Amino acid sequence: MNLTALKGNERVKEQLSQQERRRGLSHAYILSGPGGSGRHTLVRLLAAGLLCDSRGEKPCGQCGSCLKVGKGVHPDVSVIAGPGKGKSITVDQVRALRSDAYIRPNEGSRKVYLLEDADQMNASAQNAMLKLLEEGPRYASFLLIANNADALLETVRSRCEELDLLPAGRPAEAAGGPERSELVSRMANALEGTDELKLLEMAGEFTAESGRSAYPAERAGGGAVRQSGPEGRGEPSSAGGGAGKAAERRGPAQSEWQSAVRLAVRGNV
Ligand SMILES: [Zn+2]
Repeated sequence: MNLTALKGNERVKEQLSQQERRRGLSHAYILSGPGGSGRHTLVRLLAAGLLCDSRGEKPCGQCGSCLKVGKGVHPDVSVIAGPGKGKSITVDQVRALRSDAYIRPNEGSRKVYLLEDADQMNASAQNAMLKLLEEGPRYASFLLIANNADALLETVRSRCEELDLLPAGRPAEAAGGPERSELVSRMANALEGTDELKLLEMAGEFTAESGRSAYPAERAGGGAVRQSGPEGRGEPSSAGGGAGKAAERRGPAQSEWQSAVRLAVRGNV
């Protein structure tokens, strides 16, 4: 599959390319990750890949289908979002989607549905979706965009392939290499044992190896994954418990790296 437009996320690219080669793309995916991780880029690539007319690598980016998907005007691609800002997709919207899904495609061989903030749907909407995932028409594909796949019902998750995206250039992924993996895995062990001093020591090692430029400040704030704790922004607070106090002793730079280490570890375990 041609997924070069998606930055980073090599594991997801490999997962999809292998799947396409072996058994073809799945009829349902959950694309989860924080804002800025490339979910919307990937969802467009998948939609184009599913509808692409090329006989070569898909999506080709040049055929009529790919161009229409790129412009957001393909008649067989529907984007479903909640009825207003901050509102999630309703059960009525899912029912309407279901009726639409049984009308055959207009010009492509498939119909593709993109569901925004799918993890915000309530249980009724998710259950209505479940029926479609289980017994929808063969030509229908569903791409569920989520901040946090854990918020979806297990029954829904079990019927979809999960694609976990990370913001491109995160230290663990940007740097790569066996030494880095080894370091990250040691950090993961230290985290499990909550051996804070050891972890901070390693954070120093991590800093020395990668340099601060590998971790732009913008990635330290906002988004579900990034809210790793009150000490994460270099503002130690008593609510942070032991970690907060340790961060205070070692200053804000260490504290920022402590947060970076957590992010790195989450991306690797
Ligand atoms: Zn194409």
